[in-house]
Amino acid sequence: MSDVVAADAAHLWHPFTRQRDHDPARMVASGDGAWVTDLDGRRLLDGFSGLWSVNLGYGRADIVAAIHRQLETLPSASLFGQGHPTAARLAERIAALSPGGLNRVFLSLQGAQAVETAMKLARLYWRARGRTDKTIIVTRDRAYHGTAYGGTSLQGIAANRLPFEPTLPGVRRIGAPHPYRCRSCAGPRPASCTLACADELETLVEREGRDRIAAVIVEPVMGSGGVIPPPDGYLRRLRELCDRHEVLLVADEVMTGLGRTGRWFAVDHFGVVPDVLLMAKGLTGGYMPLAATVTTDAVYEAVTGRDTAGAEFPTGNTWDGHPPSCAAALATLDALENERLVERVAELAPLFAARLRRLEGRPGVGDVRTFGLIGGVELVKDVATGEPYPPETGAAARFAGHCRRLGLIVRPLADGGTVALAPPFVVSEAELTHLGDVLAEAHTATMEELEG
Ligand code: PMP
Repeated sequence: MSDVVAADAAHLWHPFTRQRDHDPARMVASGDGAWVTDLDGRRLLDGFSGLWSVNLGYGRADIVAAIHRQLETLPSASLFGQGHPTAARLAERIAALSPGGLNRVFLSLQGAQAVETAMKLARLYWRARGRTDKTIIVTRDRAYHGTAYGGTSLQGIAANRLPFEPTLPGVRRIGAPHPYRCRSCAGPRPASCTLACADELETLVEREGRDRIAAVIVEPVMGSGGVIPPPDGYLRRLRELCDRHEVLLVADEVMTGLGRTGRWFAVDHFGVVPDVLLMAKGLTGGYMPLAATVTTDAVYEAVTGRDTAGAEFPTGNTWDGHPPSCAAALATLDALENERLVERVAELAPLFAARLRRLEGRPGVGDVRTFGLIGGVELVKDVATGEPYPPETGAAARFAGHCRRLGLIVRPLADGGTVALAPPFVVSEAELTHLGDVLAEAHTATMEELEG
């Protein structure tokens, strides 16, 4: 065993990993373009861009140089009671890219922190307006909003929340659309979809009272909960209900933001402007940790008024707006714009979808879902009924394992049946074809194991 493998085996505790089954030799050592290289020098196509984050691929000299320059000039600076030029420029850029009126940028360091900030902001906003009972945060089935305690309390993925109960009070849950496996419509989405899952927000407001609900938080395209694009009209309906019942709409675009869907933000596809927009991951091309909680002037003005509780937003962390992270973000935004990479995602999306859809009709393939360069393939025990594989079969983990053996990284999701894909924006058409071929071969091997 090499030194590093022994060190890992003896000491490193991996997040979201069955530690005792984990092979410590499974390491990535370097990367270039859409590929990473493992300890043995074997190259793997990174079909998941790190954790849907290394959107521009590996080996970007421009981003590295920007980080390096910043480290030499000013490696560290807090934003408590002062600023620094890189954070100021970045806030201006983020405001310009964000949809209409989202103008005020609170920087932090990871998606989870953006979520916590949004939860606090929602409560502070209503408090500042004298509505002190409006404290409830509404979340949805299968939601993933990070693993800090606020986000853990919002988790709709039961496995990520239940072991940590009791979680925070003041959280309520509603359904989320899942056209393939719809709770209200029972079956693949019929033309008669009534968006009943969105209307659950209204039922909740009626039950709890209009003076109780502060905000609803939504992933516009659900990621870790199964890769689930919403049906037409869903987000608009939520926006209408939020307006009607005085509820803030928080869009968690930690994964979908900054081009992954073929627009700057997923909400742009639906013509919806949230009151609070969260971004992280792709903001720095995955090269440095950074997140942003962006809100409207209206929310900002209400909260920061001289005599309000939020005149000072009593929250913050040492590394908020860390200068090298902000520099990485500016270089990333430059690259996205100059190389027209968001447009490139939109151009590649149909090919990516076609490569994944080649699996449709194969045994055990229940559903294939894509949106931009986000994809999910759901394996099911019974294609006719959509009956899932029992968790102990580890269907998605097996599928992902075969992909890795064959040189492609994908991620098995917590539902146990879906593998998620999110290749870098710089992936070539030939690499997407390769991705499709590996998926097909891995699928065959998986089904042989599962069904004999
Ligand atoms: N929200 C969403 C929608 C996410 O996908 C994630 C990360 N997968 C998070 C929040 C948490 O981000 P982080 O891991 O950077 O804390």
